[in-house]
Amino acid sequence: MTSKASAGKEALPAGIDRILIPAPRIAGRVEELGRQISEDYAGRDLLLIGVLKGSVVFLADLVRRITIPCSIDFISLSSYSGTTSSGVVQLLLDLQKNPEGRDLLLVEDVVDTGLTLSYLFQNLKTRRPKTLEVCAFLDKPSRRKTAVKPKYVGFQIPNEFVVGYGLDFNERYRNLPHVGVYKEPS
Ligand code: 5GP
Repeated sequence: MTSKASAGKEALPAGIDRILIPAPRIAGRVEELGRQISEDYAGRDLLLIGVLKGSVVFLADLVRRITIPCSIDFISLSSYSGTTSSGVVQLLLDLQKNPEGRDLLLVEDVVDTGLTLSYLFQNLKTRRPKTLEVCAFLDKPSRRKTAVKPKYVGFQIPNEFVVGYGLDFNERYRNLPHVGVYKEPS
């Protein structure tokens, strides 16, 4: 007979040590964030900017919980390889339209050292938006190397490498409905 604990373990895909945030908790929090953003940005010109690719799943759910008119655009940067940051941020894909004078909300998967966000902030500030804020699905405050502070945070998490709900390890695991802690398969 299989124990409950080992049965749970067996259900996890290879490479996932444990589930950190189950799908129903994510859905509840995304709904709260959508409600808050809808209140805060009512009557304004909200443009959600998804940072590819990690924020795609979060952005897709979040935008459907926002009840005011808004639009979306995407930007893509690179700095991670495997589980470590290269420390060098590169712009791979820029916004389609000029965001000048608009209320920008950057949608990030996870803020870790904050270096990516600092780069993005500086870059977008030069385009003269009306306002610029950040909504991060996950936040690892213990790892921060910069002063950036997201206005909205889904969940604060400990210093662990996580995957799922859009977050990858070498392009895998983005499709998991929950957030799990990654562990090198033995
Ligand atoms: P930062 O520049 O803040 O150190 O890193 C931000 C980026 O690193 C995130 O947008 C994400 O792509 C990647 N990253 C940081 N921590 C994790 C993590 O735990 N899991 C995954 N999959 N990516 C992470």
